[in-house]
Amino acid sequence: MSDEGIWEVYAVKYATQQNRYRRDNFVTPPGDIHDAAMPIDYFVWAVVGADRTYVVDTGFDAKEAEQRGRTLLRSPADGLAAIGIDAGAVEDIIVTHLHYDHIGGYDLFPNASYIVQETEMSYATGPHMCTHALNHPFTADHVAGMVHRVFEGRVRFVDGSREIAPGLTVHLVGGHSKGLQIVRVRTRRGWVVLASDATHFYENMEATAPFPIVYNVGDMVRGYDTMRDLASSPAHIVPGHDPQVLERYPAAAKGLEGIAVRLDVEPS
Ligand SMILES: [Zn+2]
Ligand SMILES: [Zn+2]
Repeated sequence: MSDEGIWEVYAVKYATQQNRYRRDNFVTPPGDIHDAAMPIDYFVWAVVGADRTYVVDTGFDAKEAEQRGRTLLRSPADGLAAIGIDAGAVEDIIVTHLHYDHIGGYDLFPNASYIVQETEMSYATGPHMCTHALNHPFTADHVAGMVHRVFEGRVRFVDGSREIAPGLTVHLVGGHSKGLQIVRVRTRRGWVVLASDATHFYENMEATAPFPIVYNVGDMVRGYDTMRDLASSPAHIVPGHDPQVLERYPAAAKGLEGIAVRLDVEPS
């Protein structure tokens, strides 16, 4: 149990793509090495307080994994169950953006409402979705599902920065997707920033080398600075897709090595 406004934070890996290269992860790979292997992992996150739990993003399902050539290791709901969170009981989900790998598990959470940036919802339902170059990370059924959630009164819109609870804030960054938001959490080691796709890998941010799925490169680069401003240190920024996250942080419990880690304790 945590003190008021001090949260525990977890990353749970649910999928991976091993068959991936540096050219897939940078507009221009640093060092100009394009064909070295660079696998990517897929996570959901949980922010756990004394009497409330927020899940950050929802993952995707087996059908989506097959269509996109990803390896689903476990349902995001099963991953959350491994750290003691019942997806069916979750009431609050922060959705960083509406790409398939972040919103594709929305129907795993029948009692949840979703905190989304206004800009992301309008982007995902507006004219840019007529263009493959911009719509390919979205899945129409997921976006339609969120439209249904809007009509059900289960979406809470944010425009910019907002305090969600004491010690828990969201911040519009854009860049990668027009309405991408990041999550800042107060923990016992200071302010942790869940970057989601504001930086997929540590290297995107550290080398100022943008990821190639991008709506606005300028906003993506400025987002790296925003994260550094919001986090207690660069080591408090948690990339959205980097396999190193599982190596740097301790397992959430014995037996969860390689599956779930604690982000509110110091990385090694
Ligand atoms: Zn994304
Ligand atoms: Zn992503």
